[in-house]
Amino acid sequence: MWVMVSACLLGQNCKYNGKNNLNADLVEYLKSYHILPICPEVEGGLSIPRMPSERYLEKVITKDGQDVTEQFQLGATAALQLAKQQNCRVAILKKNSPSCGFGEIYDGTFSSRLKQGNGVTAELLYQNGIVILNEDNYIKWDGSPLSKKTNDYGCINLK
Ligand code: SF4
Repeated sequence: MWVMVSACLLGQNCKYNGKNNLNADLVEYLKSYHILPICPEVEGGLSIPRMPSERYLEKVITKDGQDVTEQFQLGATAALQLAKQQNCRVAILKKNSPSCGFGEIYDGTFSSRLKQGNGVTAELLYQNGIVILNEDNYIKWDGSPLSKKTNDYGCINLK
């Protein structure tokens, strides 16, 4: 079974600051799965390092005011294409990110405050029937493909 995973959780230095969010427990857990690593922001053409970005209304804006909505959408489309190619039904994505977060994301003020909402990629994957888990709640997943209506893993269904 294929599982899409935020590349930063696997130790890839693809964060805005050139670092990663390595989660060793998750890496160990995933040994029995086929992994599809993805960093949607890099896939969408953004550099490493880069300005941090947050969702604000319908756009994604960098801390210095640049509109990077298009790059975020390109990254989301690339992630969806990759998932479809492998018939991947589950993604474990970094929580709170403007790309990968699901249920709660940073609120657009760059003050570490959260609001209800989804990252651009997480939202597109979810809209296409992929179950979205994060680095905290994946452990509740029993390893089986889940139907779209199943959303009892701490994720907030905003749809
Ligand atoms: S876009 Fe996702 S995978 Fe890439 S650094 Fe941000 S949280 Fe990690």
